[in-house]
Amino acid sequence: MRVIAVMNQKGGVGKTTTSVNLAAGLAEQGKRVCVIDLDPQAHASLHLGIDVAGGTNSIYQVFAGGKTFTEVIQLIEQNLWLAPADIDLAATELELVDADGREFVLRKALAAAGASEKFDYIVMDCPPSLGVLTINALSTATEVFIPLQPHFFALQGLSKLFETTALVTRRLNRELRVSGVVLCLYETGTRLAADVTDDLMFFLEQSDPEAPWANAQVFASKIRRNIKLAEAPSHGTSIFKYDPASSGSQDYRNLVLEVIAAEQRIRSADQQPSQKA
Ligand code: ADP
Ligand code: MG
Repeated sequence: MRVIAVMNQKGGVGKTTTSVNLAAGLAEQGKRVCVIDLDPQAHASLHLGIDVAGGTNSIYQVFAGGKTFTEVIQLIEQNLWLAPADIDLAATELELVDADGREFVLRKALAAAGASEKFDYIVMDCPPSLGVLTINALSTATEVFIPLQPHFFALQGLSKLFETTALVTRRLNRELRVSGVVLCLYETGTRLAADVTDDLMFFLEQSDPEAPWANAQVFASKIRRNIKLAEAPSHGTSIFKYDPASSGSQDYRNLVLEVIAAEQRIRSADQQPSQKA
């Protein structure tokens, strides 16, 4: 099972759009996928057509200790499940502030639910902050995907994000790796987008080989700006159902294939005994 945290402490960079469409695309390819909506704004849940206002179970109850993970997930479509968020999740940051083992609530809940037998992928849509919910995502994840909108300040926030990942890796989760940056809201043919992409690649190439992002790639599949991607959430469905012929649909399908193609590489890396002592 690959457990992907889609994370960036900035809002509006494409986290939710990427979480939902990546998950839906993987499900379409026959993978069993569960989206965990960790943002109290519940945009991923709404995007998948679930409005938790009606007293539906949500991931909040897992953090609060009232429900198991299995009790809060629901089937959205074939191969695709969702652990919805609701606004109560905003209280989780405070409620867990002094709790023992607060960094591992989600990880334990997934283990207790036998998630690794039930799903091929978990995709976690993180809130735009580095609080306890994001820390729970990072302690549970095997991989981090960073959606990035290429503009002048994009790389500044990235080093903070990388520092946090490095800290979590050291303290909480040795297996965590940043596997890639997804360029979102990409303006094809602009000088700025190309420059930021080059800078980003340079930054990754010359980073410390021991760092958790040392092998991070910039996904070749860039997600172009496409109005259909902005419309799909209000229809409560992924881009693939909303407009399968759109460029948004093409771009996310390419990303899905790229992510699946990495499975083999990850499997052989896992089997390879470490070269280092
Ligand atoms: P985040 O979760 O990081 O806050 P979102 O995924 O919600 O970001 O995206 C922010 C806004 O931009 C949303 O309204 C979304 O529909 C829109 N959006 C995201 N990606 C694209 C894209 N490639 N083209 C057009 N609009 C997009
Ligand atoms: Mg979001």
